[in-house]
Amino acid sequence: MTHLPQRSNGRYVLLGSGLNELRGLVQVAGMPAFRAKQLFHWMYHRAALSFEEMHNISRDFQKWLAENCVLGYMEIADVRESADGSRKIVFRLSDGRFVESVLIKEDEWFTLCISTQVGCAVGCTFCMTGFGGFQRNMTRAEIVAQVLLVKRAIHGELPRNVVLMGMGEPLLNLGEVVPALRVMVDPEGMAIAARRVTVSTSGIIPGIKRLGEEDLGVSLAISLNATTDAVRDVIMPINKAYPIAELLQACREFPLRPRRRITFEYVLLKDINDSLEDAQRLAKLLRGIPCKINLIPFNPDENLPFERPPEERILAFQDFLFRKNYTAIIRYSKGLDVGAACGQLAAHWRESTRKDA
Ligand code: SAH
Ligand code: SF4
Repeated sequence: MTHLPQRSNGRYVLLGSGLNELRGLVQVAGMPAFRAKQLFHWMYHRAALSFEEMHNISRDFQKWLAENCVLGYMEIADVRESADGSRKIVFRLSDGRFVESVLIKEDEWFTLCISTQVGCAVGCTFCMTGFGGFQRNMTRAEIVAQVLLVKRAIHGELPRNVVLMGMGEPLLNLGEVVPALRVMVDPEGMAIAARRVTVSTSGIIPGIKRLGEEDLGVSLAISLNATTDAVRDVIMPINKAYPIAELLQACREFPLRPRRRITFEYVLLKDINDSLEDAQRLAKLLRGIPCKINLIPFNPDENLPFERPPEERILAFQDFLFRKNYTAIIRYSKGLDVGAACGQLAAHWRESTRKDA
């Protein structure tokens, strides 16, 4: 069977396609097979923004591409730089909808947080994306374009880490997310180290299983956020379908590569999940799972009925986990001054220490 890129409005959309699809395309165009690899290289390695740029590709093929295909880039609507060096990038998609990425400056490298859906259907009650509801899945082209556009138009190079922690639930859009991940980690493609690409999920168990089966070698992060089903049912309604014990069992069964760990994210909500009893339960629940814990002080919004715990409570929670020999890092949201809406875009990737707190 010949594989071909996706089509939209009568044209092939090339970004997100693998080499197989490009081979099919080259066949359709009646071009020699080696053109597929050239095209692949221009798209993912060089992040070409147009076919004209691809100067070692024959004029004939360039013309055919321009008539029959689009790369599938979207427009950058806005870039805002924060005082902490992070940048929030707003993209306008072809149907006029908006999504965001956040380029986060860490000590010595950059992490890019990208979106996978416009909105989110999971409806966690502490999350602004959930509050806005679900609009649509993003395409593989739109997912990949966020990373390539950052290289070409914003930052000059690919970020070291990519986290699928922006808008949306990646494991509810695996049909598009998996091909996008494949070209990101392909050594001939974008060549981002697979362990430095992290898929974050609210705990969609069938999706975790499928991600494991795809064997991409990417890292997994679980938004746990509670230590009892009673609390998790309320703040993350998806827990009714995939309760804590079953979720953690799926984590235990996830095919982790040697020396790798699952990240558990824990948004600290004042008086909801921030007690020492919670810390104690958390330590017990995660026992035996190779993991690290990211404690994320809640990023408030006037639409959300929660508060951030006081600093000393956050530190006490962390300290308890330390004493149980867990790696527990407090991650504050970055880029707050350029629009707190990206709090839920999880710009909380910066390592924070007691000194910062
Ligand atoms: N849907 C996926 C990925 C996107 S959400 C998931 O839920 O994992 C990314 C992270 O942002 C999640 O860990 C979520 O718990 C966190 N988050 C959402 N709203 C937040 C808020 N208001 N303050 C702090 N973190 C938040
Ligand atoms: Fe969706 Fe993640 Fe927000 Fe929950 S936390 S509503 S899963 S984006």
